[in-house]
Amino acid sequence: MRTIGVLTSGGDAPGMNAAIRAVVRWADAHHVRTFGIQRGYTGILDRRVELLTSRSVANLIQRAGTYLKTSRCDEFLDPEQRRRAAQILRQWDIEGLVVVGGDGSLTGAKLLAEESGIAVIGVPGTIDNDMGGTEVTIGFDTAVNTALDAIDKIRDTADSHDRCFVVEVMGRRSGQLATTVGLAGGAETILVPEKATDFEAVVDSIDTSITRGKTNSIIVVAEGYGGGTGHDLTEQLNARGYHARACILGHIQRGGMPTAYDRNLGSIMGAAAAAHLTAGETGRMVSLQSGRIGLVDLDEAINGKRMDAVNMLELARTLAT
Ligand code: ADP
Repeated sequence: MRTIGVLTSGGDAPGMNAAIRAVVRWADAHHVRTFGIQRGYTGILDRRVELLTSRSVANLIQRAGTYLKTSRCDEFLDPEQRRRAAQILRQWDIEGLVVVGGDGSLTGAKLLAEESGIAVIGVPGTIDNDMGGTEVTIGFDTAVNTALDAIDKIRDTADSHDRCFVVEVMGRRSGQLATTVGLAGGAETILVPEKATDFEAVVDSIDTSITRGKTNSIIVVAEGYGGGTGHDLTEQLNARGYHARACILGHIQRGGMPTAYDRNLGSIMGAAAAAHLTAGETGRMVSLQSGRIGLVDLDEAINGKRMDAVNMLELARTLAT
């Protein structure tokens, strides 16, 4: 394989730049040309393609976001547009594509590979850490640390005012981020999409904390936990007399300089993707399992991860009371 492409798609995640840099520099070192495609699948259809050299990706590893930019591309849901995308890639002599993104992006990548024969290797890039077949995704560690920093600060004011805070973190279908920051931040209650928790159980947990002499509490809520928004929960608590406050962390969780962990994960996974792609692999995603970098089928990656929610949530609760 003489020419490959790389793109980032879907939600951005800190560490994507390290992955782009690694793809380009690994390919350069092995005499393979890399085209960077801007704004995900939209950039293929709009022909926004540039040849990248090792110098193009200088001073990038520490930067958040994605140098190639990203987008959601509804046109790519249409098989006819994917056929057009494959034709455009072939016009540029692009024989294989590295796609860095979440489960949606890798679903598109899988279809492109199956329908057109363009070789595709996925790299898991999402702060949600919700991909199957890999223990961790690029961006998760940075997002955890960003959210944790916020929770630590909220705890300071919660303590001063003897208050209950509801902190909403990202995670529409996954409680990985909520559980990890909740455990690390000493949250009294964590609400996640994987496990239904009714409002009375939340009230009970606050009451238990008060009975045990705690004067403040933090409830970490994944945005898709199923009971409305963090604001809704706060209003429900206030209606019961708890004087709660809501803090919605929102998009700050996607930003910030990638941690050393995410830079290294992006570097290792990006280089592995380029190596496997040029060696003839396709339809697979780079993964990390038991400390080893390997490949899993895109089907397994897309089907998602089942979180060991109950154990983690119970541990967090035991340790916070
Ligand atoms: P993420 O990759 O972060 O999960 P999305 O789910 O928004 O983000 O997906 C990003 C893009 O991937 C979509 O805008 C679309 O271009 C492509 N994509 C998602 N799902 C599919 C699908 N079922 N078929 C084809 N392309 C898809």
